[in-house]
Amino acid sequence: MAASETAEQREFRAYCRAWLEENRPPPTAMPLPQAAYEVMTEDHRSYLVDWQNKCYEAQLIATDVSKEYGGHGHNGFQQIASTEVRRANVPYFINWIGLGMAAPTLLIHGTEAQRKTYLPPIFSGEDIWCQGFSEPGAGSDLAGLQTSAVKDGDNWIVNGSKVWTSLGHFARWMLLLARTDKSDKYNGITYFIGPMEHEGVTVQPIHKMTGESGFNEVFLEDVVVPDHMRIDAVGTGWKVAMSTLTSERGAAQGVGAVATSESPFAAIESLIQLAKTKKRNGRLIWDDPVWRDKLMKLYERTEASTQNFRRARVDALNGGAMRIPLQGKLTGSELGQELHQVALSILGQEASLYIGDDNSEENGRWALGYMNTYTGTISGGSSEIQRNILGERVLGLPKTK
Ligand SMILES: Cc1cc2nc3c(=O)[nH]c(=O)nc-3n(C[C@H](O)[C@H](O)[C@H](O)COP(=O)(O)OP(=O)(O)OC[C@H]3O[C@@H](n4cnc5c(N)ncnc54)[C@H](O)[C@@H]3O)c2cc1C
Repeated sequence: MAASETAEQREFRAYCRAWLEENRPPPTAMPLPQAAYEVMTEDHRSYLVDWQNKCYEAQLIATDVSKEYGGHGHNGFQQIASTEVRRANVPYFINWIGLGMAAPTLLIHGTEAQRKTYLPPIFSGEDIWCQGFSEPGAGSDLAGLQTSAVKDGDNWIVNGSKVWTSLGHFARWMLLLARTDKSDKYNGITYFIGPMEHEGVTVQPIHKMTGESGFNEVFLEDVVVPDHMRIDAVGTGWKVAMSTLTSERGAAQGVGAVATSESPFAAIESLIQLAKTKKRNGRLIWDDPVWRDKLMKLYERTEASTQNFRRARVDALNGGAMRIPLQGKLTGSELGQELHQVALSILGQEASLYIGDDNSEENGRWALGYMNTYTGTISGGSSEIQRNILGERVLGLPKTK
């Protein structure tokens, strides 16, 4: 609890804690995937949409958004709600792209009509959104995208393809970047609300090494997009995309907790439990000073990462809007990977037993989790790209060639 909280904020925090405690959903018959990136089945989708809607109705989502856009009209309560949702370690919100990227983008760049139409079903989870930025030849070099949009009366005709589109298989709308001018790399991009249910859209799942398929290829063939679904002016797509990416990396004022997987504290606690049950050379790993040192260093880094986010509340420690979220994304995703690596070392040869194997530890969660931690160090900008941005834009170092 922050010392500077008002009486109303303290009361709201107590309300969030009590509500989450009382309304924690019972486990699903089939365990949920480890991360929101991997949701594939209709059962999981409807369970998670119900959960998100319940949290929305309880004012934990869109807490500070004005009522005319479907929000709850508070001021200074969203961060409290989001913190308490994360702390409670309840299921993630399935519409994490809608909440974490689409809603902030529409609030900043959308028209009145767009905000009134698209925001309420984002908050309730009724309309799932996906992000159509990456293309086969445009990932880190996003401005290299080639999907085209050509004006045809009051419509745009879109052709091209997107890749790694998380939740594309459930989505009604896409955050769509398309090229409207081939002669200008950055000013030739325009931002649209892409209709996933229109004719000409084909979604094909991509299977990962884990066997999961939470992301897709999306093919767009003569897809008609009305001009009123354009976000901001023609040619300003790059600027709007940077605003979306800032929200994706956690810098913008969120509209709902968008934790997409297990909290880091839950993961380190589980790792310590594992060390308390596994033996090496006849003694518990937890009792071995070398292993214990390794585990405590991971614990300290988890705590440091959490404390680092708290600095965001103090302007003087902030170092600009992007610094803390960029650092958080970089260090948090790499820490998650190291944590799973240590778990695999503790398991030794048992680490090769995967989900579905009756003899595997915790149904193979560590082996699966280790592979899935690569999501964090690639998606939303790879670790190398985060380092480049931190170096160039935060520390002011010379640009990479
Ligand atoms: C699980 C998952 C979900 C995703 N979901 C989505 C989604 O929903 N929507 C979407 O649009 N995209 C999504 N992505 C795509 C993601 O944003 C891209 O994978 C990412 O931006 C990297 O692009 P790339 O895969 O084309 O790799 P590349 O850009 O080809 O990079 C390959 C390697 O080269 C390195 N590299 C490239 N340029 C530089 C440089 N200038 N300096 C140093 N190193 C460099 C990279 O760090 C990387 O290691 C997802 C990715 C994953 C893994």
